[in-house]
Amino acid sequence: MANVIAAIDALTEIILANKEKLTELDAAIGDADHGINMARGFEAVHAKLATAGSDDIGGVLKMSGMTLISTVGGAAGPLYGTAFIRMAAAAQGKTTIDTETAEAMFEAAIGGIKERGKAVRGEKTMLDALEPAYEAFSQGMAEGEDLLRCLELATDAAGKGVEYTKTIIATKGRASYLGERSLGHQDAGATSTYLMLAALTAFAKK
Ligand code: ADP
Ligand code: MG
Ligand code: MG
Repeated sequence: MANVIAAIDALTEIILANKEKLTELDAAIGDADHGINMARGFEAVHAKLATAGSDDIGGVLKMSGMTLISTVGGAAGPLYGTAFIRMAAAAQGKTTIDTETAEAMFEAAIGGIKERGKAVRGEKTMLDALEPAYEAFSQGMAEGEDLLRCLELATDAAGKGVEYTKTIIATKGRASYLGERSLGHQDAGATSTYLMLAALTAFAKK
């Protein structure tokens, strides 16, 4: 995990590759823009980082978060943007991301999303992928697994979290307007969280 810009580019790539899919998921129970929003945001992040000139981990993450907040309309931009800014703080002064730092970044990201969005697990949001992912990561770490294995465990847990969103009613975000009609549908934000974790894991394997 030496090159944070390359890692963020891997996120951009997976978001762009899944732009339509994420938008379709949001069309079913939202306003059909999640893929469009995320693609716009990560394209802006990519452009900004291309001219950044520095690969200081904290600086890159902070710049990415601020760019997401300013370019992504909708709920997810400020939430993911806050997550990146909190991860920047957790990674401040680090030159590489070890397992302990990654865990602290994960925890900080979740804290930021919860503070900003006032949601908890079980409300059919990105937190239903991210929180179980964090728990699996922490458990792996406690069992002495290395960073890559912890990321794999986190990604698997996020994938299960995405499946779980199909079984619950949305009580936050636009999908909450639908009440019971949100049942059976997969949350778009939980899906983008899963995809980004999967991309990060694949990147870490390289
Ligand atoms: P919008 O709903 O404003 O169009 P997006 O479509 O880009 O924004 O993002 C929708 C996603 O944001 C949802 O699928 C959900 O995962 C997430 N989300 C919405 N509200 C919240 C919240 N309060 N806390 C956490 N995640 C949320
Ligand atoms: Mg939307
Ligand atoms: Mg919208």
